[in-house]
Amino acid sequence: MGRVFHHLLILLAVAGFAISAGATRAAEGAGKCILPSDKVLTAEEAASAPDWRCNTVKADARGKHSWVRIPAEAVSADDPVLIGDAMASDGLLLARTLADDSMMTRVIDPATLAQNWTTGTRFALPLSEFDGKGPLYVRVDRPLGPDVADSLRVVPAKAAALDRTGSLVLLGIVIGMLLLTAVVSGFMTLALRRRFAALHFAFSLLLAVYVATSGSLVFLVAPDLSLWARSVVSYAAVAWAIALLAPFALAFFEPEMLGPRMRRLTIACGLLAFAAGFFLPLGALFDVSLRTAYNLSFIPGAVVTLVATGLAWHRGSEAARVFALAWSVPFLFAIERLARNLGLYSLPPIADFGFYLALAFEAAALMAAVGWRVNMLRRERDAALAASTDLAREARYDALTELGNRRDYDAREWQDGEMLGLIDIDRFKSVNDTYGHATGDCVLEAIGDLLRREMADGTFVGAWRLGGEEFAVVLQTDHVERAALDLDRVRREIPYVIDAQVPGLDDPVTASVGLAQVDPADPATSYREADLLLYSAKRGGRDRLCFDRRTPAPEHPDAAPLLPLQLNRSRKVS
Ligand code: GH3
Ligand code: MG
Ligand code: MG
Repeated sequence: MGRVFHHLLILLAVAGFAISAGATRAAEGAGKCILPSDKVLTAEEAASAPDWRCNTVKADARGKHSWVRIPAEAVSADDPVLIGDAMASDGLLLARTLADDSMMTRVIDPATLAQNWTTGTRFALPLSEFDGKGPLYVRVDRPLGPDVADSLRVVPAKAAALDRTGSLVLLGIVIGMLLLTAVVSGFMTLALRRRFAALHFAFSLLLAVYVATSGSLVFLVAPDLSLWARSVVSYAAVAWAIALLAPFALAFFEPEMLGPRMRRLTIACGLLAFAAGFFLPLGALFDVSLRTAYNLSFIPGAVVTLVATGLAWHRGSEAARVFALAWSVPFLFAIERLARNLGLYSLPPIADFGFYLALAFEAAALMAAVGWRVNMLRRERDAALAASTDLAREARYDALTELGNRRDYDAREWQDGEMLGLIDIDRFKSVNDTYGHATGDCVLEAIGDLLRREMADGTFVGAWRLGGEEFAVVLQTDHVERAALDLDRVRREIPYVIDAQVPGLDDPVTASVGLAQVDPADPATSYREADLLLYSAKRGGRDRLCFDRRTPAPEHPDAAPLLPLQLNRSRKVS
């Protein structure tokens, strides 16, 4: 609700701005008349032409050599300055009747216009030498669009200077915001190696170039740059920035949000916008104005981006929502600007500042969105990591007995002073054969429960089901007899535990155990020893524990050597 209200407010502000700007425009243009013409007329021919139009709110000056007539009062004010849109043109011709009734004319070439740049897309020409009578006539030769003729007006020099200072500060802020955004996206790209961060970096830079050139700030650093070059760079920069939005949106939205057809369409629109960046020099090459084509080439992209964002939004894409929010303000301004560029109506050049500010807002908002998306990716990665940790844990775990499995046993780091016990159920096959596999499973579970309990009590430092009905346990003690006694106590409990947990078995289910000391440097050999001892317990009649009585190495060099491992030296504890 709050968000809707917020958007409404913005809409109202835009509308209010347009209306007040239109009103100012009408007041400033009061008395101004326009003579559209494709032919090159002299000042005298123009002055005496019958078809001057004085509807100045929307001056339709589409001719290649149209004239503008500015009333005498405006030109006679203190320190008059001619202000106009400095968009590329072949230049101006200024004419005024002097006191002696002669007509003074002066050609202002593009280089002079560039030297007299103010801000925005404007120039400011001092008119002090045109001290005459009657109106001022201005011919605009081959302008890039109707705006040049339409934008001409005469203001006092003081007002022009104030306007210039204000505009410079505003432009500086906008470019600063854009460059800051570019720097942050640049660092994000380096740190995260995400395509959308890199695209946003390029996007912010291009917007900064666009604002610097189209706002004329570029003349501060490159005073010799021609108006034409300025326009070419400005038009190309904004076209390429818009073109980058297509791959940006595709990389930014969650991957499954747009189908392959929509993706192809988005890219095609991006390519069209990219090509539009070349329209201006191309048009000059073939002497045609591609300005309308340039403006129109963004319309498919705008429509497709709207549809794609709407679709992704509809499919639950959070990224699309954030993207739409970031773009809502500049989108409105862009539509306004597009309509103005297409000549539907006209506003004073100050209207462009709204668009610049909206762009800076957008770049900053999108920057926040990039941060948000990165955070979302981090959360996804954490979840995947947690899932894989769970999987890894499950991979080392036996579901039936809830003990570690063979893989977990094999990964074990052995310590000094550990003993390995191998436990194998006696005649387990006959349990399965007599009572069924399910009962066999219950027997295994009962043993798992017992071993886990003993582990919790500290008898074992670890217990595993190595496979089938064979279990391993590890005891930590320096005395093999102590370990043998502890383990044998557990072994004796097995029939009772099974009887309690798996009722209905006719015969007690017993187990045989082999116990060996572990050499941490060679656990495989220790396992073989324990297995041999288990085997000897089976051979000795089952239901018993066998262990090797070796104790730690004797300290006296003359002491008896270690007893070799022999089956007959193993003994049964019972
Ligand atoms: P011994 O006293 O010599 O160890 O005889 P045994 O019958 O216990 O040994 P044997 O190796 O011949 O049979 C082991 C049986 O364990 C065979 C197999 O069906 C059974 N078994 C292995 N894994 C499982 C299991 O997960 N569940 C059940 N119910 N039985 C299993
Ligand atoms: Mg067995
Ligand atoms: Mg076995």
